[in-house]
Amino acid sequence: ATHLVWFRHDLRVTDNRALFAACEDADAQVIAVYIATPEQWRAHEMAPRQASFIYQHLAALQLALAERGIPLYYQQCALFADSVDWLQRFIRQQGVDALFYNNQVEINEVQRDAALDRALPAQVRVHRFDDSLLLPPGSVTTGDGNMYKVYTPFRRAFLQRLSESDTRSLPAPAVRGNGQQPPLVALQPFDYPQQESQGDFPIGEEAARARLRRFCRENVGDYLAQRDLPAVDGTSSLSPYLAIGVLSPRQCFNRLRTECPDVLERTDGGAFGWLNELIWREFYRHLLVAWPALCKHRPFVAWTDGVRWRHAPQDLLAWQQGKTGYPIVDAAMRQLNATGWMHNRLRMIVASFLVKDLLIDWRLGESYFMSQLLDGDLAANNGGWQWGASTGTDAAPYFRIFNPTTQGERFDPQGHFIKTWLPELVEVPEKAIHQPHRWAEKQRRMLDYPLPIIDHAVARKDTLAAFEAAKQRA
Ligand code: FAD
Repeated sequence: ATHLVWFRHDLRVTDNRALFAACEDADAQVIAVYIATPEQWRAHEMAPRQASFIYQHLAALQLALAERGIPLYYQQCALFADSVDWLQRFIRQQGVDALFYNNQVEINEVQRDAALDRALPAQVRVHRFDDSLLLPPGSVTTGDGNMYKVYTPFRRAFLQRLSESDTRSLPAPAVRGNGQQPPLVALQPFDYPQQESQGDFPIGEEAARARLRRFCRENVGDYLAQRDLPAVDGTSSLSPYLAIGVLSPRQCFNRLRTECPDVLERTDGGAFGWLNELIWREFYRHLLVAWPALCKHRPFVAWTDGVRWRHAPQDLLAWQQGKTGYPIVDAAMRQLNATGWMHNRLRMIVASFLVKDLLIDWRLGESYFMSQLLDGDLAANNGGWQWGASTGTDAAPYFRIFNPTTQGERFDPQGHFIKTWLPELVEVPEKAIHQPHRWAEKQRRMLDYPLPIIDHAVARKDTLAAFEAAKQRA
């Protein structure tokens, strides 16, 4: 029998359910395929640096598979629809008996898989797995079988389910007895812009697992105290790996449990705090499956679509470039632009600033993030934006508006983070760093740094009025 493993956002050999299942029959011939879809990526605004990250991991995957006697075929198709046609032919040519893949949750991906399903002849068996989550979408529901709209009861039910589920990680498959070390053909570069990240994100499953081990051993205990401080390396920085499946959430959970066996009992500890973030990841993915409209630029709370957003391209540009005159916002955006990663607290601050200070449509922020993020992930990004914009389920209420100055004072009190990314402010003393122009004025100095593009107090009132008007119109 010939088994085909179709790799998508699961670029690893360890703990990969589809790959493991395809290899279970020792006599089967196992082959693998990856299909790049540059036009589709453009439509999804995938960041060029995420494309590079995928490309480099693909090369690593090709090698890891070859060592196990599994050849990786590689093809570029413009769109998902083209990939379905190509794959159908490929399956026929190769005489594939069974296809194995791990499910994705986004609507275009789900529709692509359904189209392939319809197109394949009945004798080709299709084996699908829920591999990118700790628990499958649709498996954590309210008493009447619906998806939760609020996070805390979801988490309660989730933890109950988790304790009853088999979440063991699977090993990488053994070397195929009947396989041959296939020749390593250099992968043709994607027809897509490429960009290296300046961040510290080494390539490979081993590097990701080493980071996970180190984090769970050394940092997780301080997670709650440190996770909101962007100047401190207090979070795992694993999101780029989780986003494209170089690492699985089961590997994260199991490593956490190995290092902190009482994680589920000590709910006030750092380990539970970190697990809580992994559960947010699950929550947003489960939501996307329950409400596919979230994939189509729809807000969860319908009346928020009536907010009259400002058309302010200059302000949008200032925000994108990190030139708003609010140091914490600007430092965060420059970190994003340079590395493709941004600290979670800062993502919340800059999202709030765009939507609630500049009154710019959250979808423009969501799409700019996607175009820059190394860890771009529709569910988490959309969830984060809809949370910050108060358009999502269980989101921040619309009248909760971060003050960008006090957020900076609270979470970067000495301005260490700000000074890392805004070299034009290095000479500003600590206590003046969040309002540098006030200090500069007193000193009669000129700063090569923009004045605030908006007055927060005024903006706050305008935003409240805009949301209230939309609510009344609804
Ligand atoms: P850790 O604190 O170490 O958390 C561990 C893992 O849990 C993360 O790697 C991530 O996979 C998951 N996670 C953590 N926080 C969240 C969260 N709030 N929602 C969903 N999953 C979470 N995360 C992405 O992976 N991709 C995105 O495109 C993305 N866009 C975001 C946009 C906005 C506006 C906001 C507010 C948040 C966004 N997040 C996104 C969530 C979060 O900011 C990042 O996952 C986190 O900062 C990654 O850093 P870390 O790996 O060190 O996280």
